[in-house]
Amino acid sequence: GDTIGQNLDRAVAAHPDREALVVLAGPRWTYAEFGAAVDRLARGFLGIGVARGDRVGIWAVNCAEWVLVQYATARIGAIMVNVNPAYRAHELEYVLNQSGVSVLCASQRHKDSDYRALVERVRPRCPRLRSVHYIGDGSWDELLAAAAPVTAGELAAREAELSCDDPVNIQYTSGTTGFPKGATLTHHNILNNGYFVGETLGYTERDRICIPVPFYHCFGMVMGNLAATSHGACMVVPAPSFDPAATLRAVAEERCTSLYGVPTMFIAELSLPDFASYDLTSLRTGIMAGSPCPVEVMKRVVAEMHMAEVSICYGMTETSPVSTQTRRSDDLERRTGTVGRVLPHVEVKVTDPVTGVTLPRGRAGELCTRGYSVMAGYWGEPEKTAEAVDTGRWMHTGDLAVMREDGCVQIVGRMKDMIIRGGENVYPREIEEFLHAHPKVADVQVVGVPDDRYGEEILACVVPGDPADPPTLDDIAAFCRERLAHYKIPRRLEILETFPMTVSGKVRKVELRERYSPGGG
Ligand code: ATP
Ligand code: MG
Repeated sequence: GDTIGQNLDRAVAAHPDREALVVLAGPRWTYAEFGAAVDRLARGFLGIGVARGDRVGIWAVNCAEWVLVQYATARIGAIMVNVNPAYRAHELEYVLNQSGVSVLCASQRHKDSDYRALVERVRPRCPRLRSVHYIGDGSWDELLAAAAPVTAGELAAREAELSCDDPVNIQYTSGTTGFPKGATLTHHNILNNGYFVGETLGYTERDRICIPVPFYHCFGMVMGNLAATSHGACMVVPAPSFDPAATLRAVAEERCTSLYGVPTMFIAELSLPDFASYDLTSLRTGIMAGSPCPVEVMKRVVAEMHMAEVSICYGMTETSPVSTQTRRSDDLERRTGTVGRVLPHVEVKVTDPVTGVTLPRGRAGELCTRGYSVMAGYWGEPEKTAEAVDTGRWMHTGDLAVMREDGCVQIVGRMKDMIIRGGENVYPREIEEFLHAHPKVADVQVVGVPDDRYGEEILACVVPGDPADPPTLDDIAAFCRERLAHYKIPRRLEILETFPMTVSGKVRKVELRERYSPGGG
């Protein structure tokens, strides 16, 4: 029943002197200092006239201000709109206008992204946008200066109006399968989800969580930040954007107990030439999530990164995000081969995608979830909401899953990724899982491409372990023949250096499919 502000107050009161936020090459704040910085920014927003329910955008790489904006907007009942740092002008314009952002906080620039230039370009076409504050610029100081005339009493009065059922965040989906949709999430949705994820990992105020995943995505801001502050743990931010070496350095220097990443991030860390030189002995747990987590990678994370208790989470933006999670008490097979059991106060069922009938355990179908974690709806898109959330409040995930006898859920793949080859249903996930064990394969994605004879044909896209010695199609086919049915064997192979990714670290299979289809680019 807490709002995010009330929950933060509890952490500040309980352990004011413990570290809350450490940004390498940035500030290092205790809970008391972090709480004070949040309050100052919250008063700054009040000072420039941000009202309850107003949308405040944040378009920035990972930094201390990002986290301050998250908690300060929550504290005054504004709705934060977190904008994907990879967006370019037309996507930025769409999101700002679709959600009606009136105040935008933004990075100035990072690497080859000139955020300021892009904001200024779209600004004339965003009629609701009143003010923009660039981090590290005079316009940011003006926002902080606006705090001066606002009293603590005025801030408290605003807070007293708020309810935990107020929307606090419009979070756009990753856009893996199409155009991003803005999920409207309440304090109750995301604070509870962060809390339960942290609870499953056994977080206490002694934990230090290394967060190399982007804050803009729920993995960072909910499973990272909210899980940390609701348990009094410390958020450790290695770099503005993912950098495998900086991540391992942060773990070693800050003695982190927990490390997050999507599978490709862990693969990049394990592949560092000087991997063995980082002291990772402080790690005990962490989360791998976001896309299918290969068993081979999970095993290496457990054995080589000291993360004996590492957990897999499954979820989606629309469900705050986590629905199922593996537990510390689960054995290695369950913790590497499944996405775990349903979180407290969440229900799941597996249904026939055509008839909607609930299937028995052991049968693959569409996973549906229900509970406190299901979003209020897609912002401004009631028709899309009705397609995704049915009248019984079940969220239709679009993911294919099996509920095992032991209550653990296995994700078979996305409904949209399923390949139909000559009438046989092929799940790319199964083939990818298998090919990860091939000695010449570092990473692999399997997609269906159009084929005159079979309708679709199976293409394996492989990142080789050694670029000078990639596997051949014959190697791959021979390897598969021993274990997979003939219709699942890839008939085409492409060797790649990297995969096209979303910023949240998901492989854009759509793009691979298009690239290797006849007439594709
Ligand atoms: P869009 O909805 O815009 O196409 P998206 O679904 O990738 O993008 P997110 O909400 O970030 O956007 O991701 C949720 C999806 O990620 C899930 O529906 C599922 O397909 C996938 N996913 C998340 N965790 C796991 C996991 N542990 N194993 C397999 N797949 C996962
Ligand atoms: Mg989705």
